Amino acid sequence: MAVVVGRVAALTDPGRRRRHNEDSFVCEPPLFAIADGMGGAQAGELASRLAKTAIEEVALTTIGEDGVVDAIRAANARVFERALKDPSASGMGTTATVALVDEVAGTIALGHVGDSRAYRYRRGALAQLTIDHSLVGELIRSGRLTEDEAAVHPHRSVITRALGTEPDVDVDTQTAEIEAGDLLLLCSDGLSAMVRDDEIARLIEAAGAEPEGAGAALVRAANEAGGIDNVTVILVELVEGEPRSRDAQPLAEEAHEANDMERTEEDVGAASKRRHGAGRGSRWPALLLVLGLLAAVVFVLWWSFLA
Ligand code: CA
Repeated sequence: MAVVVGRVAALTDPGRRRRHNEDSFVCEPPLFAIADGMGGAQAGELASRLAKTAIEEVALTTIGEDGVVDAIRAANARVFERALKDPSASGMGTTATVALVDEVAGTIALGHVGDSRAYRYRRGALAQLTIDHSLVGELIRSGRLTEDEAAVHPHRSVITRALGTEPDVDVDTQTAEIEAGDLLLLCSDGLSAMVRDDEIARLIEAAGAEPEGAGAALVRAANEAGGIDNVTVILVELVEGEPRSRDAQPLAEEAHEANDMERTEEDVGAASKRRHGAGRGSRWPALLLVLGLLAAVVFVLWWSFLA
C-alpha cells in the first residue's frame, strides 16, 4: 500500500477588515497551492490570480521539485510581464507556496516564495516545512526577535522575497516524506499571523484531523483573533491506498468542483460549502438526441406498418 491523497478541503475568507480577498488557491489533487497577492487597488488580486493560473497550467503536467520550480518560475514571468505592461498593476507581486504530492514515491515536492506556509501535522504535532521569506522571519532566525515579539511586530507582513517583482525568482524547494495519517496544511499569513502553531495543532486535533471541519475551525479562529487579513487554508489528508496513475491524477470532476467551490467562497465567504456537480447540465443534449432518434424509429416502424 502506498500513501495517497484522501479527503481535501480548501477554504478562503476575506477576514474581518478587508473588502477584497487577494488570496488565490489551487486544490486539484495531487496539486495544491496558495498565492497571497500584494499591490495597490486590485493589483494584489490580479497578481495572485495570474500566479494561480500559471501554476495550474504547468504543475499539473509535471512531477517533483523541478516541476514545482518550473510552475513558480512561469507564474513569476506571468505576473512580472503583466506588471510591466499595465501601469495600474505596476509593482504588484504575490507569494506562492506549491505542494505536489507524488503518490508513487510517497513524497511531497514543495516550493515556495514569500510567507505562505506549508505544515505537516503528524500524530498531534505540527511541523512547519517552509521557512518564511519575511522580515520578521529573518530577524527570528538571526536571534534578534522572538516568536512572541514577531507576532505583534508592526512590519510582520513585510516579505523579503516575492513573485512577480523581478524578471527571475529564487525558489526554495524540498522533498518531504509522508506517512499515512499525516495531514498537509497550506495557509496564507492570514492564519499563521493570527493563530499560534500550538493552537493550530489543537484545533486540527479537536476536529479529528478531518480536513473540512479542521479548515472551518482554523478560519473561524483567525477571524475570532481579529481577522485582520484574508485567510486561506488547504488541508490534505494522506491515507493508505493505491496510487492513481499520473494520467488519471488531474481528476476532471474534482477539478471542476474545486473551481466551483472557490468561486462560491469568494462570493459568500468560507461559510458556504456548496458544491456543484460538474458537467451535469451537459447530459441533457445527449438525452434529447436519444429520445429524438427513438421517436424517429417508432415513427418509421409505424409508417411502414400502415403502408
Ligand atoms: Ca496576506
